[in-house]
Amino acid sequence: MRPPDPTCTHSGNLRILMTINVEKLVNPRALKAAKYDMKHVTVCWEHDGEIQRAMSNESAYSPLESVQAAIRDIAGKVNWYPEDASECASLRDKLAAYASVQRENVTLANGSMELLDILFQTFIAQPGVDEVILVAPDYTAYSIRARLFGAVTRFAIGGEDTDKVADNILELVTPRTKFVLLSRPNNPTGKVMRTEDVLHILDSGVLTVVDEAYIELADEGTEVAPWINSRDNLIVSRTFSKAFGLAGLRLGYVLATPQIIHYVNLVRHVFNVNLVAMVAAEASLNDMDNVKARIDEQRQTREWLTEQIARVPGLRPIPSQGNFILVDIADAGKKPEEFVSQLLNRGIFVRDFSKKYGLEPDRYFRITVGQRQDMERLAQVLQSIC
Ligand code: PMP
Repeated sequence: MRPPDPTCTHSGNLRILMTINVEKLVNPRALKAAKYDMKHVTVCWEHDGEIQRAMSNESAYSPLESVQAAIRDIAGKVNWYPEDASECASLRDKLAAYASVQRENVTLANGSMELLDILFQTFIAQPGVDEVILVAPDYTAYSIRARLFGAVTRFAIGGEDTDKVADNILELVTPRTKFVLLSRPNNPTGKVMRTEDVLHILDSGVLTVVDEAYIELADEGTEVAPWINSRDNLIVSRTFSKAFGLAGLRLGYVLATPQIIHYVNLVRHVFNVNLVAMVAAEASLNDMDNVKARIDEQRQTREWLTEQIARVPGLRPIPSQGNFILVDIADAGKKPEEFVSQLLNRGIFVRDFSKKYGLEPDRYFRITVGQRQDMERLAQVLQSIC
């Protein structure tokens, strides 16, 4: 006979029949959590091969042959746990050399989105009290995840007003500020905050997280990662999802002082990074000539596409340092959603930014820059629908 379950007063079935009020149990922040809309990705997988993906800032290049070979080679070993992200000396050494820091300055995450959660968990101690400073507009996941982890979000005006954003950020710093978080280049504008402005923020002493997701696409020398060597209030977040073209594998990494890396390693899950991602990242770093050739090609295509868009009446492309272009359509006599659906009818998925916090409403859509021949087609379609 089974011993009686102390949580049930009658039969064992009673618990199944009883209803719970889930809303009363769920963390109030989860109750209020905004959903990060992923429908665009689902649509593309449901129509795989039929739609040109120009909506998520992925790389349109499939992984390099050397990287695919490394993935095939490791497939037979995924019965084993991967090395922990705080170890894997060989990969961390390569990342450190690539970012001009030391191995102790590096740890890994399951994409840079996971890194955001880890940073919020590491630093946000008092929900509803601790503050983070974000820029508007910036990557949508920042505010969604900040709020989920209880941070009070304060927004500095950014956008095309990049000359003043550092001052706008510093005006918001209070004793409750845990950190400033910004993308550089900025998603969605593609603009890069001036170097002296980043220095200005760092000089104030506030902890600053610079998300360099698109750094490889920016001009040479734009990165602030090497400053980790001399600044203890700088954290840099990076990813293999953009220039390295490994979005589906989920690999991000963080650069900071050994002290911060120590706490990040305590907060993140062990085995948060999978073996295939680790191997693919290392293979990419071993094949940098080919990675760089693709980056150059993407930069050239971006500049070419920017010129083409500028020639279309009513469209104003915002010069970008990322793998995407934000297009201002204020003079086009159409709404962004009309562009998005007209392009989708022709098999091209771009992203509607008509309701983006920090951007003027009904004015923008964003195009991810893909391979040249696809962008030539996109340019023709834009011409024809305007
Ligand atoms: N940061 C920025 C600025 C992004 O635009 C994105 C993805 N669009 C990410 C981070 C997320 O990257 P990952 O795939 O590494 O999670």
